[in-house]
Amino acid sequence: MFYYDVSMVGNVGKFYSELTYAHEGELAVGTIVKVPVGKKDSLGVVVKKRYEAPDFECKPISKVVVDTPLPRHLIEVHDWMCRYYATSSGAVWQTFLPARVGIKPRAVKDDDLNNLFNDKPLENANVISGVKLNDVQAKAVREIEAVESGAVLLRGITGSGKTEVYKQIAADTLAAGRSVIILVPEISLTAQLVMNFRARFSDVVVTHSAMTAAERNRVWRAVLTAKRPVVIIGPRSALFLPVKNLGLVVIDECHEPSYRQEKAPRYNTLTVASKMCSEALARLVLGSATPSISDYYLAKRLNRPIVTMDKLARPGAARPMTEIVDLTKRDNFSTESHIFTAPLLKVMRQALNNHRQVLLFHNRRGTAGTAMCKNCGWTAACPNCFIPLTLHGDKYQLVCHLCGFTTRPPLKCPDCGNAEIVYRGIGTKRIEEEAKKLFPKATIKRFDGDSEKGQGVQDLYGDLHAGKVDIIIGTQTIAKGLDLPHLAVVGVVQADAGLMLPDFGASERTFQLVAQVCGRVGRSDQPTVAIIQSYRPDEPAVRLGAAQDYADFYDTEIRERQRGHFPPFSYLLKLTCSYKTEACAVRAANKLASEIKGKFGDQKIKILGPAPSFYERLRGMYRWQIVVRAVNHATLVEIANFVEQASKGRWAIELDPGSLL
Ligand code: ADP
Ligand code: ZN
Ligand code: ZN
Repeated sequence: MFYYDVSMVGNVGKFYSELTYAHEGELAVGTIVKVPVGKKDSLGVVVKKRYEAPDFECKPISKVVVDTPLPRHLIEVHDWMCRYYATSSGAVWQTFLPARVGIKPRAVKDDDLNNLFNDKPLENANVISGVKLNDVQAKAVREIEAVESGAVLLRGITGSGKTEVYKQIAADTLAAGRSVIILVPEISLTAQLVMNFRARFSDVVVTHSAMTAAERNRVWRAVLTAKRPVVIIGPRSALFLPVKNLGLVVIDECHEPSYRQEKAPRYNTLTVASKMCSEALARLVLGSATPSISDYYLAKRLNRPIVTMDKLARPGAARPMTEIVDLTKRDNFSTESHIFTAPLLKVMRQALNNHRQVLLFHNRRGTAGTAMCKNCGWTAACPNCFIPLTLHGDKYQLVCHLCGFTTRPPLKCPDCGNAEIVYRGIGTKRIEEEAKKLFPKATIKRFDGDSEKGQGVQDLYGDLHAGKVDIIIGTQTIAKGLDLPHLAVVGVVQADAGLMLPDFGASERTFQLVAQVCGRVGRSDQPTVAIIQSYRPDEPAVRLGAAQDYADFYDTEIRERQRGHFPPFSYLLKLTCSYKTEACAVRAANKLASEIKGKFGDQKIKILGPAPSFYERLRGMYRWQIVVRAVNHATLVEIANFVEQASKGRWAIELDPGSLL
C-alpha cells in the first residue's frame, strides 16, 4: 500500500485543503484523482508521496482520473500562489484545471495538435513571412538568449517589431525541444499575433476567453498529452496549461491591467509567471513600450536584464507629427465645436478628404466627478494622499477615497481665481454625436464598454484594417496594439481625464494610454498626426505620453511614488466590505480597522481609511474600504488571513491590488 497527500480541487471546506489517502499502485506527483471526502467524492491532485504509513486511518483513492500527471512547475506554483495571495487552495486548482477535467474528450488524437487548432481561418492580418530581423531586433534576441532563465524586460517602442523578436526566440526554444507560452492582453490582439505565428510554426495552440467548456477541455488534454513541444497563444489563463518542459513565456503588452485576475483567486500574471519560470528554469520575456513603473523598478533593483528597442522596424517609417493643444485657451477653439479644438478639426478634415482614417480616443473611466478649473486646469487633490478628490453631488462634498478626507468644493479656483469650475467630463457618446454633426458623410464607429455583441474591435477588425471606417471613436480598447495602415490622425479628446481618478496608478495609466494611442500612428512611411487635447498640457503623463518618452516619465513618476509611499516602495492590502446600509458599512469598517490596529499595530504598517470605496454604491450595496500599507509583504498576508477568519467572507481581500478603485 502507498500513501499520498491529495490537495482538493474546489471548495471542499476550508480545513480540507489537503488529506492523506491510500492506494494500491504507485502514483506520480501531479496525478489527478477522485477521493472520498465525507459522503461525497471530490477531485484532487496528488501533491506528495509519503514514505511511511501515517498513524491514522486513510481512506483509499477511489479512482485515477487522468493518467498523465501535471507538470511539476504547476504543483510548485499552486503551492506558492496559495501562500503569497493568502488564497484558497481549491480555487487555485480550479483556475488551473478545466471544469470537465474528468471527462476524456473524444476528439483528442494525442499527436494531432495541428488539426485540432488550425481550424479557424483569420482574415486581413498583415502577415510578413520571412522578415529578416534588423540590427536592433537581432541584438535584442541575442541579449534575451544570453539569459539562461528568469525574467527579461523588453522595452520596445510601439512599432519596433517586438513580435518578430518573440518569434525568433520561440523558434529557438522549440528547436531546443521546449514549449512556449505567449500571453496577450485581449482577444482583439490575438488575431494579428496568431496569424503571424501560424505563418511560421506548425503547432500553435490558441485559447481565448470565449471558448466553451468542451473546447477548453480538449485544448487542456491535448497540451497535457502532446508529444511535441508546442506554442500556446492566449490570455492570462493560458499560463496554467499543463505544458511539459516549459522553455519560454512571453507576456506581450505586459503593462495591461487585464493581466491581473480581479476575482478570486486574485493574482498578477507577471508575478506568477516569474515564479513559474524560475521553477521551470524557463525564460520570461516581459514586452511593452510602457512597462509598469513597479515592474521597471523591480527589474532595475533585482539587476534583471532590460533590453531596449528604440527604432521603428518598418523601413522608411516616419514618426507622427505630435501636438499638444491646451484646452484652457479659448483661442484654440473655433465656433464649430466645444469638444474638438481647431487644430484637431483641421487635420481631421484633411484626413477625411484624403480618404484616410481618424481615431478619436477618450479615457471614459476618467469621467468621474471631481472639481477642475476650466481656466488653468487646477484639480482638487487630497492634502494627505496627493490623489484627486471625488465629488459627491448628493452631499455636495469632495471626498478622498483613500483616507476619507472631505472638503467643500471651492466656489472659485484657488490657483487663478476663475469661477468656472467643471465637475464632470464628457462621454464617448457625446463625442460620437459631435463627430456625426460635423462630418455627416463619414462612416463612424464607436467602441467602448457598451458595444454590442459582435460589434467589438475584434469583430470589426477586418473593416477597420481595410479602411472601411472613417472615424473610429473609443476608449481603452482602441488604444493598444492595433495596426491600422489607413490611419492618418489620432486625436486624444481630453488626455488628462484619467488623472482625475483617485488612485496612485492614475498618472501611469494615463501615460500608458496616451503613449499607446499615439503609437497607432507613425508606423508607415505615410505622414501622420497625433493631436493631444488637454486641460493640463504640462502634466508629465500628458506631455511625456505624447512624446512617448518612457525614460523621463519613469524618473518623474518613481519620485512621486516614493513621496506618497506607494508601490513599489510599499505593499498594499485593500479590504472592501459591502452592506445594505451605509451605517452598517461604516460600523464594520471602523471595527475592523481598530482590530487590525490592535493586533498588528506594533508592526510596520499604516492603515489608510476607512473611507468610502470609489465605486461606493454597487448593486444596491454600500461599499467601504480600508487600505493597509506595509514594507513587508508577509505582514499583509498575515493580516489578510486574520481578516478572512474574523470576517467570515464578509470582506473582499486584495493583496497587491492593481488599483485602489
Ligand atoms: P510592436 O509590437 O513592437 O509595436 P510590431 O511587431 O507590430 O511592433 O511591428 C511593427 C511593424 O513592423 C509590423 O507591421 C511588422 O510587420 C513590421 N516589421 C517588424 N520587423 C520588421 C523587419 N525586420 N523588417 C521589416 N518590417 C518589420
Ligand atoms: Zn484656475
Ligand atoms: Zn487622502
